[in-house]
Amino acid sequence: MKKRNLVIANWKMNPGSLEEAKKIFNTARDSAKKFKNIEVGICPPFVYLALLLKLQHPKNLFFGAQNLASEIGRAFTGEVSAEMIKNIGAEFVVIGHSERRAMGEDNEIISQKLKIAFDSELKPILCIGELERSKEGEHLAFLKKQIKECLSDLPKKYLIGITIAYEPIWSIGKSYKEAMTPTDIHETVLFIKKIITDLFGREIADSVRIIYGGSVEAENAAEIMEYGAVDGLLVGHASLTDQFPNILKNMDLKR
Ligand code: PEP
Repeated sequence: MKKRNLVIANWKMNPGSLEEAKKIFNTARDSAKKFKNIEVGICPPFVYLALLLKLQHPKNLFFGAQNLASEIGRAFTGEVSAEMIKNIGAEFVVIGHSERRAMGEDNEIISQKLKIAFDSELKPILCIGELERSKEGEHLAFLKKQIKECLSDLPKKYLIGITIAYEPIWSIGKSYKEAMTPTDIHETVLFIKKIITDLFGREIADSVRIIYGGSVEAENAAEIMEYGAVDGLLVGHASLTDQFPNILKNMDLKR
């Protein structure tokens, strides 16, 4: 059965007020309603998450967190636990985003967070991606290491159907003109599938969802969906703008 296309809107540390957050959410909600074949995941900052969750939304729109605590317990000032995220009604969590890795999260912490998410019945979206590409293929070894170290300690049952967001760091936060080409995305997705097959077997590799993130805008969404061999997109800056409905529209054309 074909998996439904997925789009994750990562709002990062935006916007500056609840009023603006509601506006951005309304745009996402209205377009999700029009494209029921697309699963739309919204990741607002924690301060807005619980409030937006209470607003009416269609069944194909769901909420996620941008991060969770790597520990279980109570004495972790400033942290937000998987239990809290689950209990407010969010369904997924982004783990290992490159901006969090840049703050010191390593594969070991990310693996721990993945386990905590699964144990709390939150669906994790694991972000991986190289800092730069090299002609010698060093970036492929880097991706292999990330996948191995993040996933190997997890029970196999957790890996079935896991979502991996491939986000080459060099292409994040730019214009669509500087995003990775669909051909290169396709090649890398095949490589990721091969790694997962080698490490965990064909059944798991076939069930994994791979989405692409890195300067997706309305202009390149359709061609990445058509030629990139991905199951969806992770959208950062463009998810905060009026481009978002067009991204959904263009994704829908390429189902
Ligand atoms: C991201 O940070 O996950 C991302 C994809 O950002 P952007 O779309 O802005 O490149």
